Amino acid sequence: MDILGVLLILLSLIGVIVGVVGLIKGSIKVLKIISRKQVGLLILACFILFIVGGAMISTGATDTPATVAGDVAKQVTDIDGAEETSSQTVKELEQEKALSTDGNGDVDEEPPASAPDVLATTTTVSRDLEVHFIDVGQADSILIKAPGGNMLIDAGNNGDADLITSYIKKQGVKTLDVVIGTHPHEDHIGSLDVVIDTFDIGKVYMPKVEHTTQTIEDVLLAIKNKGLKITAPVAGSTFNVGEVKCRILAPNSSKYDDLNNYSIVIKLEFGNTSFLFTGDAEKVSEDEMLQKHKDKLSSDVLKVGHHGSNSSTIQGFLDKVNPKYAVVMVGKNNSYEHPHKVVMNRLKEKGVTVYRTDENSTIVANSDGNNITFNTKPGSYLGSSSGGGTTGSIAPTTPAPNTKEPPNVTNNNRTVYWTPNGKSYHYTDKCSTLSRSKTILSGPLSSCPKSDPCDRCTY
Ligand SMILES: [Zn+2]
Ligand SMILES: [Zn+2]
Repeated sequence: MDILGVLLILLSLIGVIVGVVGLIKGSIKVLKIISRKQVGLLILACFILFIVGGAMISTGATDTPATVAGDVAKQVTDIDGAEETSSQTVKELEQEKALSTDGNGDVDEEPPASAPDVLATTTTVSRDLEVHFIDVGQADSILIKAPGGNMLIDAGNNGDADLITSYIKKQGVKTLDVVIGTHPHEDHIGSLDVVIDTFDIGKVYMPKVEHTTQTIEDVLLAIKNKGLKITAPVAGSTFNVGEVKCRILAPNSSKYDDLNNYSIVIKLEFGNTSFLFTGDAEKVSEDEMLQKHKDKLSSDVLKVGHHGSNSSTIQGFLDKVNPKYAVVMVGKNNSYEHPHKVVMNRLKEKGVTVYRTDENSTIVANSDGNNITFNTKPGSYLGSSSGGGTTGSIAPTTPAPNTKEPPNVTNNNRTVYWTPNGKSYHYTDKCSTLSRSKTILSGPLSSCPKSDPCDRCTY
């Protein structure tokens, strides 16, 4: 289209030059145009040609993807009929194509009123993306500053309101286009009410859970007072925050025994970089994601689930996410002894670079669409029995009095096994982690002094 347009424009320019010469000389004998009126008509015709040519070039340009890769990707997408875009590499699209032919039922449900997908037409980004993992101790709060929009995932404990709101203000953020309360535990939605009161808020995502606490009621009241509505997450759907594409990967069921598994899990894609935010999602939810969204899990940065607890980050899930970097949001010397050693070892064995709020305080990741950098040096792989980084002390045998998260609903009469100095309890005395233990104690779970289930035998 545009070659023809250029030709038309060239032709019209030549015509105008010939016409102007004709006007000066009175006529153009070569073309048998002998009156000034005919020369005028020639110039008018050339002008029309010029306009038509220009219009052809401009429509041609919008049809043409900016890059060769985009071109191929577009063709793949067309064959596929998928909603994927040239922002993804051809390889990824081919993988998706392969997966879709195995009858994988993972469908994107674009909310009808969502903003136009900016990444659909460009592989370059206008400005860097910043992901701030705000140090709120044993809790989560993550500010995402994207070109064209801001998002907050979780808002710490009730006592973190001043810290979080002043941090967000200091970043020059006045509007949070999307606010996500991953699940209704206090360490995730504690200060969400104050955040909603303080900033201009677009959409609020929270999972549908029948559960009531004062904290939840405060948040619901703040939402109501501001005339906002809660949007329930739909796994598989996507929405945009500025130039960032967000994909909801969990929850995938409507009912769970543990509140943590209601956690909204979000994958964020920016240029060629990606982040996975898992809230407190545990093995049950990770298994569902492995079944339903296995081709969408791969991410550069993983916000490690449930503060590094061994309830989460199972090997299969970690392998599929296959992150370069992991962020553990965890309080110094917290009563849960998060993060657990087994999780930190899994990250270490995979060579994942770890950042953790108990050692690094607030962590800021910066993405230019191709590379991710951090504002701080990596943290350690210390976990569990070493109290999240300090010197080894024997695990406390009684649960902390200010337990914020209810214990897992399990059968308290079940016989479990433990060792005097071990961290966890076991469902079987044949568990491989007990193979070298001389003293194995047993009794009903209700009288067991250990609060952590072993990640090998209690699943
Ligand atoms: Zn939780
Ligand atoms: Zn939590």
